[in-house]
Amino acid sequence: MSDKTIIRTTCPRDCYDACGIAVVKRADGLVKVLGDPDHAVSRGALCGKCAIAYNGAWLDSKARVTRPMKRIGPKGDGRFEAIGWDQATAEIAARLRDIVSRHGAETIWHTHYTGTCSLLAGGFPQRFFSRLGASEVDPDSICNAAGHAALKYMYGASDVGFDPRTAKDANCILVWGANPFASAPHQHKHWLKEAKAMKVVIDPVRHPTAADADLHLQLFPGSDAALAFAMLHVLVREDRIDRAFLAEHTIGWAELEPIVVRCSPDWAAPITGVPVGKIEEAATIYGSGPSLLWLGQGLQRQPTGGNVFRAVGLLPAATGNLAKPGAGFLYLNGGTRRGIDSDYLEASHLRQSERRKVSHMDLVARLSDPRKAQALVTWNINIAASNPDQARLHRVLRDERLFHVAIDPFPTDTTDFADYVLPAASFLEFDDIVSPYFHLSMSAQVKALEPMGDALPNQEIFRRLAKAMGYAEPELFEDDRSALDTLCRQMGLKDFAGLAAKGTVDIWPEPVPQFADLQFPTPSGKIEIASEAAAADGHPRLPQPIADPRPRDGLLRLLSPASVWLMNSSYNEDPKVAEKLGAETVTLNPSDAARLGLADGDTVIAANETGRLVLRLGVADIVPAGVALSHKSRWPKLSKHRANINALNPGRKTDMAESSAVHSVEVTLTKRA
Ligand code: SF4
Repeated sequence: MSDKTIIRTTCPRDCYDACGIAVVKRADGLVKVLGDPDHAVSRGALCGKCAIAYNGAWLDSKARVTRPMKRIGPKGDGRFEAIGWDQATAEIAARLRDIVSRHGAETIWHTHYTGTCSLLAGGFPQRFFSRLGASEVDPDSICNAAGHAALKYMYGASDVGFDPRTAKDANCILVWGANPFASAPHQHKHWLKEAKAMKVVIDPVRHPTAADADLHLQLFPGSDAALAFAMLHVLVREDRIDRAFLAEHTIGWAELEPIVVRCSPDWAAPITGVPVGKIEEAATIYGSGPSLLWLGQGLQRQPTGGNVFRAVGLLPAATGNLAKPGAGFLYLNGGTRRGIDSDYLEASHLRQSERRKVSHMDLVARLSDPRKAQALVTWNINIAASNPDQARLHRVLRDERLFHVAIDPFPTDTTDFADYVLPAASFLEFDDIVSPYFHLSMSAQVKALEPMGDALPNQEIFRRLAKAMGYAEPELFEDDRSALDTLCRQMGLKDFAGLAAKGTVDIWPEPVPQFADLQFPTPSGKIEIASEAAAADGHPRLPQPIADPRPRDGLLRLLSPASVWLMNSSYNEDPKVAEKLGAETVTLNPSDAARLGLADGDTVIAANETGRLVLRLGVADIVPAGVALSHKSRWPKLSKHRANINALNPGRKTDMAESSAVHSVEVTLTKRA
């Protein structure tokens, strides 16, 4: 008889890949978390960060929060005493009830994002907040809301992407503003590399995905819309647009075309920094189709990110690259497309008033106002590391007046500020369902280990809080198995046990063409190049061929994308990952380094009106002149100066959906004396 058990589960992190995982448990207690060799995505290997952390900090009780904790020191000091669940939920409920009666439920804010993205862990807690009548920080405003808004104006939906299986039919894959090497490592290693299509990457940074491409257009940040119009100009000039498709399935092309005709590559080259020949080559490759377009999340984190998405989104419409094999665009593939009913998952009917939301960009101001904020619940998120205006946010979180409950598997910067910390189970410790946002599949997250200490899955934590509040609605107490079976049935599957037995299932056996029926959920039913809805919301009717002004007075435009060693702010806690991360760096083009009298390895101060940060300088031509590159999401408390790159981020908003324009931050760099 074998002395080991293998449990197959799925990684539910904020990642395109949704890897299959094999948890190997030996009779002597040894546990190994490995890539499932039989899984189509992971093919036996996890990404580097997960391979380390899932076998390191995630299995280490000393690195985790394992008991409910109550603050015993000043806020922000991270000093707590362990208490029991009954005491924790009773005291939290008493405080929340008091706030509701004296200030109103709307002064209780909750904020969450993608800590554990599986359906129950990410959605079920909303039932509690709906019943409570709490206010919510708009989750996507920290990440990708502008892109969603822009695509909805144009295509009526932002979560209906191409089916990646159709890459075999594509002649071109255009990756715009994304770095799958870091954010979708297995798609980079397998999907992208195995596709026979020509690969074109458009990005200010020559990251590994760009370096591997057949063609890389290294544009200046914020000039994407101008570049898109110049590519359209070439497509019109070379008669590569699909006029029959435009006539039948779009509205507004006749208004747009005269603008496109004025936007030649000669016009765009000095604006974008991309040579005329490369603009023409990229347009010709894309126009040769069928073509896939991967729209990165970082692409829209710019002041005019919504306009950028509308401009780049013109490419599939103008060339008819939809509804056929090898064609389409992808921002993400959402769960509703597979039949998931988010109103059921979140029990939206329990909401007693309109959903109140505020942008993450306004969170500091909101929490600072006692008339509007008395309490904060943070779950699946680490705002003290990931939010803008970091120094001010930390000051607000230190305020004794603000009642703060934090729910997390790890003692993060955010939990340090809380009054109560509740231990969340890791995804290895409970059953759930993973809805990948790249492939059109569904996967089982299968419990492989017992929860560490007293940790509980998010959904069970909120059941206990609901009970302590005295609520009686049965939706608040639905058990996991019932909810998982219901979600499976919504997708046309028999039940969760059936999904768990298969691991991952393709919802459709064959590749699904994007918008196969050419019916678009816009007001007109067509692709709205000219959008009355956008105009009614105060935006231009048409996408605009504009670019952000270049930084002046020697300032540098700071880009802060994801590191290959972190998943948002996860994994900082693992010492081996920390070793891989090394010193926090900023990279400059050699011409800027020479202009500023700086050399590789110097210690420099990045500063602006919001804050300052000490970094180590790297010099490399992977960024254009005028751009500084530093990766995001370190834990401030692990750095000497208790700050990360968000100390420099003033929280500027995008043109649409009040989302983060973090890639527009401007800084000076000086050598530290
Ligand atoms: S984070 Fe992404 S690449 Fe890493 S194991 Fe999870 S799904 Fe795979």
